[in-house]
Amino acid sequence: MQHEGFKMGRIFGITIRVAWSWLVIFALVTFNLVFAFGNMHPDWSTLLRWTVAVVTALLFFASVLVHELAHSLVAKAQGIPIHNITLFIFGGVAHIQEEPKSPGAEFVMALLGPVTSIVLGSALLFFTLLVSGGLRLMQQPEAVLAQFGPLTTTTAWLGSINIILGIFNLIPGFPLDGGRMLRSILWAITGNLRRATWWASFAGRAIAWLMIMSGIAMAFGAQIPIFGQGLADGLWLAFIGWFLHNAAVSSYQRVLIEDVLEGVTVGQMMQAQPPTVPPDVTIADLVNDYLMRYDTNAFPVVEDDILQGIICLHDVRSVAETERQRLTVRDVMTPRAQIDVIEEDSEASQALQKLAHREVRQLPVVDSDRLIGLLRRQDMMRWLQLKSDVTMDNL
Ligand SMILES: [Zn+2]
Repeated sequence: MQHEGFKMGRIFGITIRVAWSWLVIFALVTFNLVFAFGNMHPDWSTLLRWTVAVVTALLFFASVLVHELAHSLVAKAQGIPIHNITLFIFGGVAHIQEEPKSPGAEFVMALLGPVTSIVLGSALLFFTLLVSGGLRLMQQPEAVLAQFGPLTTTTAWLGSINIILGIFNLIPGFPLDGGRMLRSILWAITGNLRRATWWASFAGRAIAWLMIMSGIAMAFGAQIPIFGQGLADGLWLAFIGWFLHNAAVSSYQRVLIEDVLEGVTVGQMMQAQPPTVPPDVTIADLVNDYLMRYDTNAFPVVEDDILQGIICLHDVRSVAETERQRLTVRDVMTPRAQIDVIEEDSEASQALQKLAHREVRQLPVVDSDRLIGLLRRQDMMRWLQLKSDVTMDNL
């Protein structure tokens, strides 16, 4: 996850990153605002419309950041380290490294984000009403809105969007804030964080499906309370639902995997004394004597117990049939300098991160440069499946 987006700065010792997808949202919001401001204020020049739209979109971005900082500062106050925040579509994610310490702590941490957004939004709307003469707005909204200057136009829009952001995040589906609050309540009742996460994520998936179905119904002309009707709004709702569904599934899996892997070392999962190949074997012999004989696609290349590299089926395929008698494993292998390795007593979760990060299927396990095992992705997945199925049955 470290490579998603770019670094923007640091606040309170927390690194702020912006996901690339956020730039798309930023552009969409800006275009949308240029269009909306044009409808509201036909008298505004193009330059004024664009300027106010860009400033408003940037302030929206700042509002999302304030929301995430509210979560992070509560976490910090509770002694949970937060190293970075990534802003992405529909909001942000504060990367909370550890699980919350207690249901109460998680409840407060989750609640403070939406509360901050709603308070901020209300203050902006109150300011707008104060400046523009609130009562008249109630009587002739369109006439008053047309008289709004750039400042009140911005505060009116930001106020509304912050309240919407706050309310959206209160939806009780994990991993939204409301879902975290639901999880903390279930956690307090059952005393089981994993079971609470499962139910909160189930609620997230159920709500996501409801949004997808409603969105599709809207696109086909149905009238849905609050959300209205129409193709564009329907597709938006369905898209947000799809996004929430993915988030619910992946965040539950992450919690589950971290939980299952806690305290497990690489040594417990690795294949000890895996089949290896010496570097001077020809590719033809590698195919006949190793690839055809063992149920594995990758072989560590070892000479005098020392790891020299790794060779896999994929490397062999790239060698022409006519060259296979001439070339040796050493000519074709990925050399030691280019492969990532891991140690026997490392945490299994660290190995999983390496596998995912380097997009490789296996990691040689070494003691200094001596090969002692091989940790394959497939073994790890099977281990996870077995362990999590056992615990699923226990739910
Ligand atoms: Zn939040």
